[in-house]
Amino acid sequence: MSEDIITSDLSGESKSPTNFIHAIIEEEIRNGKNEGRVHTRFPPEPNGYLHIGHAKSICLNFGTASKYNGLANLRFDDTNPVKEDTEYVDSIMEDVRWLGFDWDDRLYYASDYFDQLYEWAVKMIREGHAYVDDLNAEQISEYRGTVTRPGKESPYRTRTPEENLDLFTRMKDGEFPDGSRVLRAKIDMAHPNMLMRDPIMYRILHTDHHRTGDKWCIYPMYDYAHGQSDYLEGITHSICTLEFEVHRPLYEWYLEQVAEGSYRPRQIEFARLNLTYTVMSKRKLLQLVNEKVVNGWDDPRMPTICGLRRRGYTPESLRAFADVIGIAKRDQVIDVALLEFCVREDLNKRSNRVMTVLNPVKLVIDNFPEGEVIELEAINNPEDPEAGSRLIRFTKELYIEREDFMENPTGKFFRLKPGGEVRLKYGFIIKCEEIVKDSEGNITEIHCTYQEDTRSGMVNSNKKVKGTLHWVSAEHAIPVEVRLYDRLFATETPENVEEGKDFKDNLNPDSLKTITAMAEPSVLKLVVGDRVQFERLGYFCVDPDSTSSKIVLTALLH
Ligand code: ATP
Ligand code: MG
Repeated sequence: MSEDIITSDLSGESKSPTNFIHAIIEEEIRNGKNEGRVHTRFPPEPNGYLHIGHAKSICLNFGTASKYNGLANLRFDDTNPVKEDTEYVDSIMEDVRWLGFDWDDRLYYASDYFDQLYEWAVKMIREGHAYVDDLNAEQISEYRGTVTRPGKESPYRTRTPEENLDLFTRMKDGEFPDGSRVLRAKIDMAHPNMLMRDPIMYRILHTDHHRTGDKWCIYPMYDYAHGQSDYLEGITHSICTLEFEVHRPLYEWYLEQVAEGSYRPRQIEFARLNLTYTVMSKRKLLQLVNEKVVNGWDDPRMPTICGLRRRGYTPESLRAFADVIGIAKRDQVIDVALLEFCVREDLNKRSNRVMTVLNPVKLVIDNFPEGEVIELEAINNPEDPEAGSRLIRFTKELYIEREDFMENPTGKFFRLKPGGEVRLKYGFIIKCEEIVKDSEGNITEIHCTYQEDTRSGMVNSNKKVKGTLHWVSAEHAIPVEVRLYDRLFATETPENVEEGKDFKDNLNPDSLKTITAMAEPSVLKLVVGDRVQFERLGYFCVDPDSTSSKIVLTALLH
């Protein structure tokens, strides 16, 4: 993997959507290829939850189809029954829809094509292009040779089509144990591309499949199934990640064995998305879930789509991110800050503001009458005039952030200090008169006076002070559980580990901190999934763990 980290484009301006894949497509349309038809597919293997990398691929496949008035299919690439599960199928469909894309009635499974794939394999056997091999896995790999040394032909390579057909039928009928035989394409054991040295087409697996049950005990390999599935669905552009570039000759070779006419799907590779501070491999994500390093696939620290959703990321921000990073031909690592930037930009426009104090210290207004309540108008979202305003209650006892007060301030500290003045947001200017401490020296109360005529609409409302603090009424505040999430990994490229180390050695030990915060009462109206901006703090999302007696909020960005 290349080590350049892309950080530059924080301007938020979406680049022109045109990329090298679109350039290829436009050229083909000009030349009348496939009668100008554009048909893509997103082909996940249902062996895990989708992550932000898949989101990039989904945006590319569905986005490209819609840009050229084409179609995009959702196809489950379910050729390996050992690791696949309907739980994953369901979550993948939910995630693609949530991202804002629709496959209409074009939902397919590679397993829908098992009969056709079998028939084509039989045809290849008849035509002398495939054979049953009795070598075991170890021998096959030994016979394959190396990059510098040609492979050696299997002694079974010269079997007659009749013998191959008989054995392949018996493989299908369950006569042989797992691993005892395979069907191989007969290409060239000396081919410079190792993948072309008689690749395996079918293996025996006496395992039930999540869709076909016990109908099959032989299963096609990915390379054989993928291109033929594309062909069967009329896919024009089979977009995949760079590691499949070396598979392309094989993709094309298989198609030549079965295709009729001139139509062929075309494989085009692009660079997969890598993000700093993020692990993207499904296998590693599964490990984090299984070993309970995180609380499930939708833990807000996970880069899975359901995790990002729970954290409060919007589909719009993920699509904007996919646009901004564009499509590259070379591997790259994108700075996760760019993703966070896209989320912030989107939420800034759409989320209502709420005042919440995360680390409260009591503030008493000495010259404010006991028991009196003043209602102040607070703007819900300065970015959205439609969002309106609400009334918040000001009382004698308030909470402010402990960090917003310093007894002995150093340098430029514009928040509250002894003798200093600040404005309480939407309210009055106050002056710090006195502090009260407990026997250990911790500040328990800050005593202030307020200036009544500094409130909005009053004569001194424009009086300038350097600091503005958020606050809540101590009497009215609602305690809420706030989960402060930080990055799951402490290092920029957590998958790069030295010998003998594990990616989990790079975990951030402080990625979750749970606190009780004091929020203004309007939080009672929020429902699960709502996103708000806590004034001066950042964005928070109402977590599904919330109950009727406890609101749980997840910090969206660290
Ligand atoms: P694995 O190969 O380990 O099962 P995968 O991430 O490749 O994992 P698939 O289900 O095969 O999983 O992926 C579905 C599609 O998403 C493929 O077309 C794949 O190329 C694409 N994809 C997967 N990871 C990324 C990524 N990080 N960036 C962009 N596209 C990706
Ligand atoms: Mg894959």
